[in-house]
Amino acid sequence: MPSSTRRALTLLAICALVGSSACEVVSSKGAKQDTTTVASTATNVPPIDTTGAGVPATPSESLAAGSARDTGVVTLYPEQPVRGGVLFALAEGVAADIPRCSWKGAPLPCARVSKGVLAIVPLPADEAAGTFTLSFERPAGRITRQVTVADHDFGRELVFLDSAHYALVKKSSDVARDARALRSVLATESDQRLWHGSWKAPVKGTHSAGYGVERFYYRAADSSRAITLAPDMKTRGTFGLDTNSKAADVPSWRHAGVDIAAARNTSVNAPAAGIVADVGEYILTGRTVVIDHGQGVMSAYFHLDTALVHRGDQIAAGKRIGRVGSTGLATGPHLHYGIYIDGKDVDPSAWTAMPAFVRDDSKPKSAAP
Ligand SMILES: [Zn+2]
Repeated sequence: MPSSTRRALTLLAICALVGSSACEVVSSKGAKQDTTTVASTATNVPPIDTTGAGVPATPSESLAAGSARDTGVVTLYPEQPVRGGVLFALAEGVAADIPRCSWKGAPLPCARVSKGVLAIVPLPADEAAGTFTLSFERPAGRITRQVTVADHDFGRELVFLDSAHYALVKKSSDVARDARALRSVLATESDQRLWHGSWKAPVKGTHSAGYGVERFYYRAADSSRAITLAPDMKTRGTFGLDTNSKAADVPSWRHAGVDIAAARNTSVNAPAAGIVADVGEYILTGRTVVIDHGQGVMSAYFHLDTALVHRGDQIAAGKRIGRVGSTGLATGPHLHYGIYIDGKDVDPSAWTAMPAFVRDDSKPKSAAP
């Protein structure tokens, strides 16, 4: 057994909370060629799709509203986005008072920043890879980019639970209630960006892994016999509402964050500024803190021994918010750390690898209502 798998099984980190319903098992990497158009310099002006020319210019939308000239340049990061990650997109100089963006043809929250309009696109593990359209509306016409999201195999794990922990998994109605409550918190879209600068690790000097892995839960007594996961066995994105819809089903869901090994009572510190959106006790996630960082960005901390903040607290980067524990569906102390964008989970390491044009914007503006 690989050490990473052994470690994961030891932690038995559960931490469910998967944001979307579609859940697709992908058995091969199958990375597709990236056809993303990346404009990395001001001289590389991509063509403008004028199919959006019907968008009216409004008098209030002036170039003065942005410090950069509207060149039609869109900077995308990373160059090769991957399922489970985050796509950061900056349209330079677009001077819309109320920015409007879309992804896959649906509205995408986006915000004015000092250099233009910033769109942050979550690419959760539960959504398929493929090529999709990102667009920015502006007075001069819609800007569109075709972005290819490469596929990624997150792997699968068997997790064996003692009877007490297995009983938690089977509390389906309570788990469903918790899931609704947490999803409601995580889907909140507040207007103001509350942070700037680099995001720090919430726990010091530790290794983290496990985002996106599909976990299948069994009783410890089952471990003595061989269990083979059929290739077509799939986890379900929404762990609480339909995990136990059939008695014969194996409880399973995708891991929506990372597990960071740490000793009990290790301090957990806020990676960036924000407002505490929730402090709760839930069946699977245990003692839980959620921080709202503004404009759809949330961070979540599960299995805490102690929460040291209260709902509504304004917290600065580095503020101690709790202590590592093993509450809920966890058999050893560790921190489960999750990042959610517009209510969708993404790999925290992809979020914290944000480019400077996101990290260093020091003039947060209001988001679109
Ligand atoms: Zn976890």
